[in-house]
Formats: sequence, structure tokens, C-alpha cells
Amino acid sequence: MKRVSILGSTGSIGTNTLDVLGRHPDRYEVFALSAMNRVDELLAQVLRWKPRLAVMPDEAKAHELRARLKEAGSRTEVLGGAQALCDIASHPGVDVVMAAIVGAAGLAPALAAARAGKRLLLANKEAIVLGGAFFMHAVEEGGATLLPIDSEHSAIFQCLPEDRTQWARRIDHIVLTASGGPFRTRDPRTLSDVTPEQAVAHPNWVMGRKISVDSATMMNKALEVIEARWLFDLKPDQIRVLIHPQSIVHSMVVCRDQSVLAQLGTPDMRVPIAYGLSFPERITSGASRLDLLAGKDLSFEEADEHRFPGLFLSWQALRGAEGSAAILNAANEETVAAFLDRGLRFDRIAQINRQCLEELQATHDEVASVDGLLSLDARTRRHAQGLIVRATR
Ligand code: NAD
Ligand code: MG
Repeated sequence: MKRVSILGSTGSIGTNTLDVLGRHPDRYEVFALSAMNRVDELLAQVLRWKPRLAVMPDEAKAHELRARLKEAGSRTEVLGGAQALCDIASHPGVDVVMAAIVGAAGLAPALAAARAGKRLLLANKEAIVLGGAFFMHAVEEGGATLLPIDSEHSAIFQCLPEDRTQWARRIDHIVLTASGGPFRTRDPRTLSDVTPEQAVAHPNWVMGRKISVDSATMMNKALEVIEARWLFDLKPDQIRVLIHPQSIVHSMVVCRDQSVLAQLGTPDMRVPIAYGLSFPERITSGASRLDLLAGKDLSFEEADEHRFPGLFLSWQALRGAEGSAAILNAANEETVAAFLDRGLRFDRIAQINRQCLEELQATHDEVASVDGLLSLDARTRRHAQGLIVRATR
């Protein structure tokens, strides 16, 4: 029996993870659940899954959850505070940690799981984009098993041999596929009028709000390029992105001999989640079967720089000075939050992200430790906020 902690259990990845776990009660047990805001949802999850621990980083919310669980006769212990997220990620009673918090807030608990040598299922791409080499080092030092949950990276991982030492010799380059999001065919000149509702309405995937906006700007793919650089130890020019509107080919590995390996399936995050849980075995995921005769053509196109300027910032960050990826990620978290709050125009997201990338440079101290990176993250957010205020005046 494997015991699982879910960081961000009320989110889109979190609930999909619980769905897969529920299909395999003989193999997995929920050890801990956590959420930021939604007390009602976490309460319902705790009553259904009866974990040993439940965490809410906000102490007042933790207090409310504790009281309501007590009333309901639950024996789950509730912990409050951000440190508690690290505790459930590194607890000796845990085998598997699903890192499904959104944003840089997930870095510390993901690192805690890595250092404690857990099987670490990484959905939280911002954590690896920010943590970079430190993140990979923690995985290695802790003896953790890092498994990608992002569907593209899971696809690449599934196309590679289990023995990682063979990867470098095998890979010529990889192709990350992108759906192109809701604005793939929209006139780029009209992108200034886009509303949050339009931006989060993804054609193929149902996801959290932040990643949905990232998909609309293709900043999601930019973060995924950086994520792939670390997960598969690639150079910037070994990572290519193609738009594939059907979201059936989840990504491809082009081998040294020019053989192309792809992973296909219906767009359903339960497939990469199930693979992360059961690797190297395979378990049922609940996903529906891909109907190859359904008449969907598979098409591929190059991403247009005018429509998706954010995408190209990834290579700029990878080729830039150390700390550039952390700057890009922090700027994007701020611009997306401002857009969702109706405080910033959609087309300004990539502009301000680029400005932060070009105007800021990490100091030596900021790239010498994880704490340094977190202060670079905070400094970039302040800089981005200034630019956002100016852009909306
Ligand atoms: P979501 O917004 O639906 O859920 C986020 C979860 O994290 C929630 O449970 C929330 O309570 C918790 N959370 C948010 N901020 C927090 C904080 N500061 N501290 C602690 N907990 C916090 O997001 P999602 O769509 O599930 O995405 C989660 C991560 O997975 C993101 O990094 C995203 O890029 C990645 N991802 C998601 C999908 C998808 O299909 N949804 C696919 C690939 C990758
Ligand atoms: Mg993805």
C-alpha cells in the first residue's frame, strides 16, 4: 500500500489525482490533503478520504476546518501554516507526493519532498522553473524519483527508456505540442479586448485559472520549455514547440537516427497522473479510449511570434543570465493575476513579462541559493507591479 500526500488537493490536478486513487483502493491510501482557500471543498474531501492529516496554510482557515471536522466526528488532524505543507511532503509515513500547488508557493514543499527522497509527481511547473538546478540537485541528493505530470513531459518521459543514463545519447531534440489555446485563430490585433472569461475557456482541457490564461498566451508552453530543459537535461535548441490543435499527440522525441516517437491519447490528465503513480507499471486511469477513426485529422503548425510573443521568451530566458527563468516566471505570475483581476490588458501580459526579463538581472547572491531565488522572485514581482500600475494608468 502506497501512502499519498496531495499538495493542492482541491485544484484541477488534485481532484483528478483523487479520482485515479479512488480507482485503486487496493494500491493507494490518502495520507494528507491540502488546500489554500476552499474550506468547504477540503472538508468534503477529508470526510470522503479520511486522511491522517489535512493542511491549510492560512491559520484562520485551518482553525475553521478543524472545528468543522470535529463537529463531524472526523479523526483527521488539521495543521495550519506554510511549514505544514513541507511537513506533509516529507513525512516519514508518506511514499508519494503529488505537487499540484499553482505557482512559486509550491517550491518549498516540492523541495521538501525531493530532499526526503519521495516519489515526487510534479505538476507544479513553476516550482521547477524557479528552482532550476537547485531543484534537480535536491532530487538527486535526496534520492527522490521525479516523475513529470505535465502531459507533454509525461509524453516525452514515456517515449524514453527507463534508464536515464541513455537519454543524452538517444535524444536529438524533442517536440512539445501545444493546443494553441482559445485564441489560436483570433486576429492578434483584437487580443487587447480579451476578457478573463474568454481566456480561461480552453478548447481541449479543463484546468485551473492561472494555467488556462498561460495556455491562452502560450506562456504555459514557455514555462514547459524551461521545465523540459531541467527534466531531460536539454540545451535550448534541442526543444521545439509546434501547435497541434487536436491535443492528441501529447509530445514527441526525435531520436539521433531521426526516428520520431510520440505518445498519443485523449486529452485527460488522469493518464499522466496514473502513469506517475504506477510507473513503471500501468494502471487504469478512467480516461476514455482514443478513437483513431473519429475523423480528427492530426495537424501541426508553427507558433506565430506576433500572436504568441510570450512563448519566445522561454528561449530568451534559457540563453540569458542565470536567474532569467525565475524572473520570467515571477513576472508572469504577477501579470496573470492582474489580468484575472481585470487590472491589466491581455496583450500586456507578454509585454511586461518581456520588460521584466530585459530590465532585471539577478545578483550573484540571488542565484547562489534557493532563498536567493525566492528574494529574486519577490523583487521581480515588485518590479512587475510597478509596470502593471503604469500600464493601466
Ligand atoms: P488549480 O488552481 O486548479 O489548483 C491549485 C491548488 O493549489 C488548489 O488546491 C489550491 O488550493 C492550491 N493552492 C493555490 N495557491 C496555493 C498556495 N499559495 N499555497 C498552498 N496551496 C495553494 O490549479 P491546477 O490547474 O490544478 O494546476 C496546478 C499545477 O499543475 C500548476 O502548476 C499547473 O501549471 C500544473 N498543471 C496543471 C494542469 C491541469 O490540467 N490543470 C496540467 C499540467 C500542469
Ligand atoms: Mg502541459
